[in-house]
Amino acid sequence: MRSKLYIDGKWVAPVNGGFETVTNPATEEVVQEIAAATEADVDLAVKAARRAFDKDGWPKRSGAERAKFLRAIAQGIRDRQDEIATLEVINNGKPLPEANWDIGDAAGCFDYYAGLAEQLDRCGTENIDLPDGRFTSKAVKEPIGVAGAIIPWNYPLLMAAWKVAPALAAGCTVVLKPAEVTSLTSLQLAAIADDVGLPAGVLNVVTGAGSVAGQAIIDHKGVDKLAFTGSGPVGSKIMAAAARDIKRVSLELGGKSPFVVFDDADIEQAVEWIMFGIFWNQGQVCSATSRVLVQEGLYPQLLARLVEETRRIRIGNGMDEGVLLGPLVSRRQHEQVIAAIDAARAAGATVACGGGRPEGFDKGYYLQPTVLTDVPLDSAAWVEEIFGPVVCVRPFKTEEEAVALANDSRFGLAAAVMSRDDVRAERVAAAFRAGIVWINCSQPTFTEAPWGGYKESGIGRELGRWGLDNYLETKQITRYTSDAPWGWYIK
Ligand code: NAD
Repeated sequence: MRSKLYIDGKWVAPVNGGFETVTNPATEEVVQEIAAATEADVDLAVKAARRAFDKDGWPKRSGAERAKFLRAIAQGIRDRQDEIATLEVINNGKPLPEANWDIGDAAGCFDYYAGLAEQLDRCGTENIDLPDGRFTSKAVKEPIGVAGAIIPWNYPLLMAAWKVAPALAAGCTVVLKPAEVTSLTSLQLAAIADDVGLPAGVLNVVTGAGSVAGQAIIDHKGVDKLAFTGSGPVGSKIMAAAARDIKRVSLELGGKSPFVVFDDADIEQAVEWIMFGIFWNQGQVCSATSRVLVQEGLYPQLLARLVEETRRIRIGNGMDEGVLLGPLVSRRQHEQVIAAIDAARAAGATVACGGGRPEGFDKGYYLQPTVLTDVPLDSAAWVEEIFGPVVCVRPFKTEEEAVALANDSRFGLAAAVMSRDDVRAERVAAAFRAGIVWINCSQPTFTEAPWGGYKESGIGRELGRWGLDNYLETKQITRYTSDAPWGWYIK
């Protein structure tokens, strides 16, 4: 099966006719061929988005009108929940219950931003108090223009929703490029937008390689705003491209997030949150708490329980009942994570459990959930994002030491702390240099709350009202209300 591009409200074949294969990571079988867009296709998509923005009036519609489309898309996603969740498993490898969470959250994201679009009608204009009574002034929120949205493969539809929903709510039009390995559910999103009658050009979906289709989006003069989630090196390229034309830019990049567990924590709760924090979605999570710091009094027991439970995690095809860990997304990712574990071993780390392909899984990109100890602080395993089911665990003595170790990273996406002492937990939360902090848990994410990183983990915030601001400009309108001359020339 070959898919097309969704440009200007139509399904079109790529101008240069290229296609790429998409593989099921559980079976290594080809499931579909996707269109490989080139510069010519991206140009058509950007022109369609430009026309929808500049001439066809998408930004001129009221927030309430745009909200109707967003709610219809949310409903469309819910109506196809089973089909889309299954596609996500086939394409990404994640277990079906997790795919179902993602699809539910994606629908919820469209509903949430429908509400914010309506609020823009009421609160999009703010009167400003001025010290000079001869003037009135107001600040008006307006959409930035055409947004180029480029997303990764770990939460394919959800990452699309995090960008497309606030952009459309704000009144922007969008050219979306999903990751080449997981484009199938973004194409479903386009089909739903088409079904609900979203005006032509408001959402365009171009599939294909990052270095070709993605690069063409970031270089296109017709794009006003770049919204990117992905790796740091590509984030740097995007920021450089944005700098050339002074495009607006928001970046959600990687992390190496710490999880500090104090002696007074409940050991069973700690084990569950540590496992969830690094093994859900096969550890392919930007906010994964991959560096676990455990206070020395609890360390031996907690490590033993963590290893025991990690060995029990059921591995398998994400479609199978009871599976908690599916395959990694691609051969490339599988090879990279195995290489990272081998490098950790070579640097002196101990593999407490896991560390390779699970027995009985000769096909598919499967990897055992892995716990590393004795990881040198200057080794890549401790410092770099592995983006797989691999956790480094280390003891600490004092709160001060834990905070210093936690913050000793060029990343600052997320951090977590677990303690029964609320005052201490709040103190540590305040000391973390990270954009997202969890207390007594790790990973739960809510559409209403801001999401984004400090330091090299990114720029800007998605989700909540902050996510809408990503797609808005603020215009000042100041009026001179006096009949008297200004007095500079006419005295
Ligand atoms: P990636 O940076 O390789 O790719 C991300 C997207 O960028 C893909 O769509 C890709 O095709 C595109 N791309 C690649 N080269 C490009 C170029 N030159 N110009 C324009 N687009 C280009 O990242 P990935 O491997 O797909 O995803 C994994 C990374 O994403 C991890 O580092 C992870 O931490 C990060 N991530 C961050 C968040 C977050 O919210 N902070 C969420 C998910 C993933």
